[in-house]
Amino acid sequence: MIKISNLTKEFSGVKVLDGLDLEINEGDVVALIGASGAGKSTFLRSIDYLEEADSGIIEIDNFKVDLANINKKEILELRRRTAMVFQQFNLFERKTALENVMEGLTQVKKLSKEEAKSLAEEGLKTVGLEDRMDYYPKFLSGGQKQRVGIARAAAMNPKLLLLDEPTSALDPELVYEVQETILKLAKAGQTMVIVSHEMDFVYNVATKVLFLEKGKIIEEGSPEEVFNRPKNDRVRDFLMRHN
Ligand code: ATP
Ligand code: MG
Repeated sequence: MIKISNLTKEFSGVKVLDGLDLEINEGDVVALIGASGAGKSTFLRSIDYLEEADSGIIEIDNFKVDLANINKKEILELRRRTAMVFQQFNLFERKTALENVMEGLTQVKKLSKEEAKSLAEEGLKTVGLEDRMDYYPKFLSGGQKQRVGIARAAAMNPKLLLLDEPTSALDPELVYEVQETILKLAKAGQTMVIVSHEMDFVYNVATKVLFLEKGKIIEEGSPEEVFNRPKNDRVRDFLMRHN
């Protein structure tokens, strides 16, 4: 069980996250949707402590941390339990696909090189890149790069996987292979929060949809409920414009 309580963040006096509360059950795929500037990325980044929230408690099973008062050891502990997939992949350009996936395993999880290599190979096979392990990112397509990004995050075996618009930087013909990879992870029971503007994909992958506006969740439900019977007019308008 993952519990996020009273998450707040201001940028220059403006509340970008306004006291968010969220509970996530194991195996949940939570989709976070909302207009540009709603606070979606800030929300994901705060969970991984890439952004320093002003307040917020995160509980992941029996690990509990106060974001307003977190120490280095706790940041590392938090990052052992969460992992991020970025819109722009954020791969290390000077490392091969295999080395990219190994990095967190050796640096954060402190595994030996041999253990990390074997897990990384397994992870790259799962995303269909067994023949690209020794390639540097610049020789990979966008879809392949993002699959390395997903393998890198999933190899950490995170309690919670965070994906921030994982397909929005891709050419349209490469979106499908990455969405399929994410669906496969979801079906395997990986708990995740995914930000996406691809409403068909959200409908297919999510177990729960949240609509964020000005740092607040203004609608929450199953994909069926939120897409077919939104209670809030602004959610209805948003969905009409995104279909
Ligand atoms: P998008 O759909 O465009 O990615 P988003 O919902 O992810 O939008 P955020 O990136 O979380 O939105 O940004 C929320 C608000 O916080 C925006 O108004 C943005 O300008 C502001 N913001 C984000 N990061 C910073 C920062 N480092 N400094 C100042 N303001 C920021
Ligand atoms: Mg964003």
